Amino acid sequence: MSALAKNYNRRKIAFKRGKGSFLYSTSGKKYLDFVQGIAVNSLGHANPYLINALNNQAKKVWHVSNAFIIPEGEKLANILKQKTFADYVMFQNSGAEATEAAIKAARRYFYSIGKPQKNRILCIKNSFHGRTLATIFASGSKKMTEGFGPKISGFDHFNFGDHKGLKKAITKKTAAIMIETVMGESGIKVIPDWCLKDLRKICNKKKILLILDEVQCGVGRSGKFFAFEYAKIKPDIVPIAKGLGGGFPIGAVLMTKKVAGAMIPGSHGSTFGGNPNACAVGLEVMKQIFKKGFLRNVEKSSKYFISELIKIQKDFPKIVKEVRGKGLLIGLQLFKDQKKFIKMLELNKLLTIKASENVVRILPPLNVRRVEINIAVKIIRKVCKKF
Ligand SMILES: *Cc1c(COP(=O)(O)O)cnc(C)c1O
Repeated sequence: MSALAKNYNRRKIAFKRGKGSFLYSTSGKKYLDFVQGIAVNSLGHANPYLINALNNQAKKVWHVSNAFIIPEGEKLANILKQKTFADYVMFQNSGAEATEAAIKAARRYFYSIGKPQKNRILCIKNSFHGRTLATIFASGSKKMTEGFGPKISGFDHFNFGDHKGLKKAITKKTAAIMIETVMGESGIKVIPDWCLKDLRKICNKKKILLILDEVQCGVGRSGKFFAFEYAKIKPDIVPIAKGLGGGFPIGAVLMTKKVAGAMIPGSHGSTFGGNPNACAVGLEVMKQIFKKGFLRNVEKSSKYFISELIKIQKDFPKIVKEVRGKGLLIGLQLFKDQKKFIKMLELNKLLTIKASENVVRILPPLNVRRVEINIAVKIIRKVCKKF
């Protein structure tokens, strides 16, 4: 009997090792892993560069407090600054911590300019920003908040796609709009570029901040380093996490100079955030992702994979409702409940994971090979035939 709390409905498989896109179970089966720890292992399992980076760091220093300078963190923050909109970076350990720190930064900014009454965050109803008390109420999901009251106030909501509702929901007390550039858990719903451009304009006009949660879609997953780059806009605050450590826990909040100015010494902190091991691995992930042609290749893989999935949709129009996503954050929306479909894929040795709205979420490593995509396509087609 497991002593682990039952807050997860776990599948009955365990793995003894992984290599690239594949996982090997303790019962000797080989799986094509298109979950990758839910968009975390950006470079696949047991990547030799990441193993090296971790081993090298582990021999030197594991942990010191943020009371001291951490060179690995300085380097990682610098690369993030060089390659993105960000002027400053604040390290955390997870996605929820990063989104929560993003909320704190937005509120603190208005406090610092003498407008503390501007403290409400406007989010999409049934979005996902993590599982801390504040972030579950930010998500506005009944299921996630059930039994965890009293409600944390300070969050307002509008429905996905309801532009009028969004504009109406902005009040004098609104500090920021916080959305996922591509909504992951909620069913791989892409916010169109024109919407993002509009959002930026609205935020400028109302003098409020734009927080884009790229915890899932960021760090190359979309085919660009950030998914919002497609819209050619710049946000004010961006929390990231999942892909950044390639499997090692790390989160970060990226901020413009304007916002970061409010985060004065003592205003926020974290014991583990910016840990040398995490930053050394994160640094190596960045090195690999920014190698020439890497992101272009993610886009190519995505284009190929999605076109193959659209062929499947055309051949099985009564099973597959829609293929959607950006880069290698791909959703296959079914007409019926997707759980059985995911189980059938698993029995055929392809691992995927569900998202809301009957979506089968497909998350290969960013360095997935064409032959591996072909294996997945073949298995998905086979399952459609039997479904
Ligand atoms: C996963 C996720 C989070 C939460 O990350 P954790 O590391 O699980 O806390 C927040 N926002 C988005 C968009 C996510 O996908």
